[in-house]
Amino acid sequence: MIVVMEAGAPQTAVDHVVKLVREFGLVDHVIVGTDRTVVAAIGDKRNVDKSAIENAPGVEKVVPILAPYKVASREVRKEPSTIPLGARASVGGGGDVAVIAGPCSVESREQLMEIAHAVREAGAVGLRGGAFKPRTSPYQFQGLGEEGLELLAEAREQTGLAVVTEVMSIDQVELVSRYADVLQIGTRNMHNFNLLVACGATDRSIMLKRGWSASLEEFLLAAEYIINAGNPNVILCERGIRTHETYVRNTLALGIVPAIRRESHLPIVIDPSQGTGHAYMVPSMSRAAVATDADGLLVEVHADPEHALTDGAQSITPEAFAKTMQDVSRIAEVLGRQLQRLA
Ligand code: PEP
Ligand code: MN
Repeated sequence: MIVVMEAGAPQTAVDHVVKLVREFGLVDHVIVGTDRTVVAAIGDKRNVDKSAIENAPGVEKVVPILAPYKVASREVRKEPSTIPLGARASVGGGGDVAVIAGPCSVESREQLMEIAHAVREAGAVGLRGGAFKPRTSPYQFQGLGEEGLELLAEAREQTGLAVVTEVMSIDQVELVSRYADVLQIGTRNMHNFNLLVACGATDRSIMLKRGWSASLEEFLLAAEYIINAGNPNVILCERGIRTHETYVRNTLALGIVPAIRRESHLPIVIDPSQGTGHAYMVPSMSRAAVATDADGLLVEVHADPEHALTDGAQSITPEAFAKTMQDVSRIAEVLGRQLQRLA
């Protein structure tokens, strides 16, 4: 349920509600809005004396949360959340469009630095690159591991870009958190609830990719696991779903942007690379994503796609990326927005 405080209710009243909520065995999430504070109280409500909370000083009303997801839902927080992307950028909150770009995998120092400088030059605020790669076949390149993380940190040092990289298992969380600004949870792990909880215990922002067969409800419930574990900084990422189609690797479900806006306060970014599987489609789907008012993009860029160790077919060149950035910037402008720059 949501305890809506009166406008201007003092902190002591909020603290008292939090105390009551805890006494009833519920978990509290205090959300400070622009004109009022709400306390979301999550858990088994059978032993809760609702009237005790309703009559507490400074409480305006107590309302049930109807959506299956609670703390991720717009019912609990009306204003869009702003999630940090390292120290110099952010995603969401109705702010500027944040573009994160880089190779699918970190392959070498030379490869990563070349791409990092190129995407920085073109206006990206985040650098993506996998050090641990979830590969369908055990015979494919699995990533450089910690060496890849070190290279990502070096690229951040050189460019100021925030580092976004995947964590595949609980035992990697501590290691990846030492290097990354944002922990990416891949599509194959969206239902790995123990990993979600482990990432929820960190102070890193989390980029949660939609499972390729997950519904919007399942997607938001996965985000809920992370937030309930103590980490409110969740960025949702649509990366395409599996359908009967064969001309694309995945079907990029852009309709999720307005749907997420309606259902949740969390930002949503679009990955047109996994979302199509084909480099030739990435510029147009990037433009379309920004036109839906998405909060950002996650784009795979490679200086030599033909020789990329992973996902070359869907990686665009730095030149194509620079052109795409110019185009999406103009589309953002039509919507009264702009591309975010590093602070
Ligand atoms: C990726 O971003 O390279 C990746 C493996 O993504 P996904 O988990 O969406 O397949
Ligand atoms: Mn990839």
